[in-house]
Amino acid sequence: MRRADGKTVKTIKIDVAKCNGCRACEVICAAFHAKPQYSSTNPARSRIRVIRDQVADLYLPVYAGEYTAAECAGRDKYVIDGREYEECAFCRASCPSRDVFKEPDSDLPLKCDMCESDPTLAEPLCVKWCLADALVFEEREVEVDKAAAIDDVDLGLRALAHVHGWQKVKDALRRLGGAGNEG
Ligand code: SF4
Ligand code: SF4
Repeated sequence: MRRADGKTVKTIKIDVAKCNGCRACEVICAAFHAKPQYSSTNPARSRIRVIRDQVADLYLPVYAGEYTAAECAGRDKYVIDGREYEECAFCRASCPSRDVFKEPDSDLPLKCDMCESDPTLAEPLCVKWCLADALVFEEREVEVDKAAAIDDVDLGLRALAHVHGWQKVKDALRRLGGAGNEG
């Protein structure tokens, strides 16, 4: 029988109306995840990207979610409060159809880790650096099926290995300080 345990889910609530497109969130995220830490501010390495349309005065911050090996079939335009958002604008996936959320050197997918560090930060750095308060950190407790969670990790690693090969995945895990010795 599968066991359910408690898990803290961390999310960032985005208030699009408050974002001014300053890109401070991109800079701090890229710097925090640079190797060595804070050695570079290349936004291409950021796990949060700001879609900008200065003519339309439109700025949309999106932070990276799960990797997906397949492009989705549906492409829609969104019009909200008279503003038109491009196809894929709200999507958080690293996917084959666009360049965002991919590490520039290796092409491996990037995913927001909520600035995981030891000791744990009081709040993620993009939230802290967003002086416009467009990003709000939220935590909540949920029940999670332990076996299902392990299955998800296994599935994710196999999907990555299918695209990039095990060696690349293991190298990336090693760089991130993970085990990376199995397979
Ligand atoms: S730091 Fe805040 S205001 Fe600046 S681009 Fe990012 S979300 Fe928008
Ligand atoms: S929470 Fe941390 S890892 Fe995630 S997008 Fe913000 S700065 Fe980057």
